[in-house]
Amino acid sequence: MSAHAGVVYLVGAGPGDPGLMTARSLDLIASADAIFYDRLIPPGALSGAREDAEFVYVGKQPGVPSVPQDEIGERLVEAGRAGKSVVRLKGGDPFVFGRGGEEGEALRAGGVEFEVVPGVTAGVAATAYAGIPVTHRDDASAVAFVTGHEDPEKDESALDWDALAGFPGTLVFYMGVKRLGENAAALIAGGRDPEEPAAAIERGTWPGQRTVVATLETIADAVERESVKAPALIVVGAVAARRQELAWLERRPLHGRRVVVTRARAQVSGLAATLRDLGAEVVELPAIRIEPRIESPAVHDAIARIGDYSLVCLTSPNGVRLLFEAMAAGSKQEHGAETGRAGGLDARALASATVAAIGPGTARALARHGIAADVIPERFVAEALVEALADIDVKGARVLVARAAEARDVLPDALRERGAEVDVVALYETVREQPGADAIEAAQAADYVTFTSSSTVTNLVEALDDRFPASARIVSIGPVTSETAKAAGLKVDVEAERHDIDGLIQALLEDAAR
Ligand code: SAH
Repeated sequence: MSAHAGVVYLVGAGPGDPGLMTARSLDLIASADAIFYDRLIPPGALSGAREDAEFVYVGKQPGVPSVPQDEIGERLVEAGRAGKSVVRLKGGDPFVFGRGGEEGEALRAGGVEFEVVPGVTAGVAATAYAGIPVTHRDDASAVAFVTGHEDPEKDESALDWDALAGFPGTLVFYMGVKRLGENAAALIAGGRDPEEPAAAIERGTWPGQRTVVATLETIADAVERESVKAPALIVVGAVAARRQELAWLERRPLHGRRVVVTRARAQVSGLAATLRDLGAEVVELPAIRIEPRIESPAVHDAIARIGDYSLVCLTSPNGVRLLFEAMAAGSKQEHGAETGRAGGLDARALASATVAAIGPGTARALARHGIAADVIPERFVAEALVEALADIDVKGARVLVARAAEARDVLPDALRERGAEVDVVALYETVREQPGADAIEAAQAADYVTFTSSSTVTNLVEALDDRFPASARIVSIGPVTSETAKAAGLKVDVEAERHDIDGLIQALLEDAAR
């Protein structure tokens, strides 16, 4: 359900892993007019937002001047009164040490409607990723979320440290690194067992999550020694020792490996997401970028007669995505005027065509639009698609080949030779993109660099120049890409046996296991 005008949504973004964002948060982000966001939101959390949305950063960073809390409330009220649909996006859960309560009160006082969308709070997420169950039949029948930021020496402290020491269950401290020494001492002074297991979890659910286990008495030293930094949680309780049995994050096959992914942004996510699921820390260096070209006259013409094609060939997932965008948008005027229909075209426009996909990724993209590809070749190159289409009589048929501007002409040439009337439309161009300084820096310590096409090699080598990570192992999708890499002076360490993304991941996994 999308965001309503004049309503402010207090939305939890979860602890950092984008996969832990709720479906509702993503829906609201996708439709909001304005998004007020904090510092600790997951990477890419805003990537699904509308391009014309207003983005307002109101994060707090230690030691940096920030927008005062009162002012955040005022600005939310203002935006709501202006009739905007507003997402106020916060790390974790908005009502758990998130000041969501105060913002809700400000909105109510200002006469602005609001809704609260809970998020996965760090107290259960970072612990779960560390293999620490906050409750356990044998160890803890209760759990308390506590702020560690209060000064135990301060007279009017809201925390009763003796009562906390006597709490019969797990204590989870948020914001507890800075005052860990004093807090642990206050618990021990209150009668808590100094030998009780304790853990610090740094950057829970983010790449590079770290967990340090000690005892209540030694945790402060351990945290100091290992220089654990915020954001981190402190867990005090017998459950912290369960990690020995229950740690799972560190067992994933690519845990602790940093992998550079070089693909166009729109495609990067699939490969990156899979690598992350396998435990890798992914550095995305988008060496190439997709520039949609769906406004061109050729695309307009093709869309206007889309129902006339008896064969439609798609050669990439981007092609599929943009063809459907072009159908939805580009035909509105023409068709709307003729038929009185409000919307554009959808999958039904291809109902009478044979649809060919160059490979399984393209077929999956089609499936997302409700189309089961009729033809998918065994090998995922244009020549193989030509072979796979051999049984289809194309003489006199109208054929649409929708693809990238700079693609080879193997497919249209072959179809024309067989008597087809072929329209080739370029839905997009791939252009070079300069990676950001942070990404280049992160890439320096990479264990692997992956190449998924010759253009990624050429572009990345040019973009990184003398900052190409010298010690990383290079993984290539296939022989053509490997040749390009060698010609650029790189040593290819791993080459995929199957020349697609799954094959590349398989090859990387096998290499990492050695
Ligand atoms: N509303 C947030 C908490 C904000 S307070 C939530 O529900 O999670 C900020 C504190 O939360 C940090 O100091 C840290 O103690 C904890 N925290 C937030 N994200 C964390 C993470 N990914 N790993 C460990 N602790 C985290």
